[in-house]
Amino acid sequence: HELLAGQVAGAVVDARAYAAERARAEALAELDRAKTTFFANVSHELRTPLTLLLGPITDALAESGGELPPAVRDQLTLALRNGQRLQRLVNDLLEFVSIESGRTAAVRVATDLPVYTAELAGVLRAAAERAGLTLTVDCPPLPRPAAVDVRMWEKIVLNLVANAVKYTFVGRIDVRLGAEDDRVVLRVSDTGVGIPAAELPALFERFHRVADSPARSREGTGLGLALVRELVGLHGGTVEVGSEPGVGSTFTVRIPFGTPDAAAPPPASPAA
Ligand code: ADP
Repeated sequence: HELLAGQVAGAVVDARAYAAERARAEALAELDRAKTTFFANVSHELRTPLTLLLGPITDALAESGGELPPAVRDQLTLALRNGQRLQRLVNDLLEFVSIESGRTAAVRVATDLPVYTAELAGVLRAAAERAGLTLTVDCPPLPRPAAVDVRMWEKIVLNLVANAVKYTFVGRIDVRLGAEDDRVVLRVSDTGVGIPAAELPALFERFHRVADSPARSREGTGLGLALVRELVGLHGGTVEVGSEPGVGSTFTVRIPFGTPDAAAPPPASPAA
């Protein structure tokens, strides 16, 4: 009897701990949702004034940048860069919310993925080289055609490679595209600062940033990887990370080859 009573008491404690843990997880998820909704509302309000602010600065620099006193030009450039940073944050947040609410779907288009991926990685080559890093791209032809949402693939590749540049101080970044088990596999590896094992489970959560990670620049929102995970998910794929502090990280994206979605509706017939 005593043994049984002990088991029952133990089960009650387990059940209570489980319920408390679940309530905590739900409260955190609710808080996350509230935070996203709040930022989404604010972001929406920021979008138009931000566009109106950045337009004239962009024009001024483009049209008369050469005639401006250097100090003024530098200040405008700084204002533009920071405004654009804010704009990226606003856009990422809005995109995030739209994906979460189920309003966004991947529209797959037949794409020469090796060529496109190499092009995208190449966009960040100059930044990598400026930072003293080597960037190699290995994207041989795939065994069969792939279809992806082009704009989403761009975000996936650019986010991962930009992070690799941001969190690597010496060494190299390798971007590889290939096929495994009938899936397209993208690997972005770096010889950067790495990520502590304890941080890995939450790495793809929104707003999650590794505390005290020695970054090249502390610019960041903690939204990049969360967005990557959502975009990969919209392609029916997965993203994982392997990392060792002080050695480097490898992010691996796997997506089905996919087939092009039904053609977009034909353009409206010209007015009679
Ligand atoms: P952030 O805007 O902070 O870069 P991300 O969602 O892209 O946001 O990344 C979340 C965190 O994951 C970063 O703050 C950084 O600490 C860590 N991280 C991402 N990519 C790498 C990488 N290649 N090497 C080391 N740490 C990384």
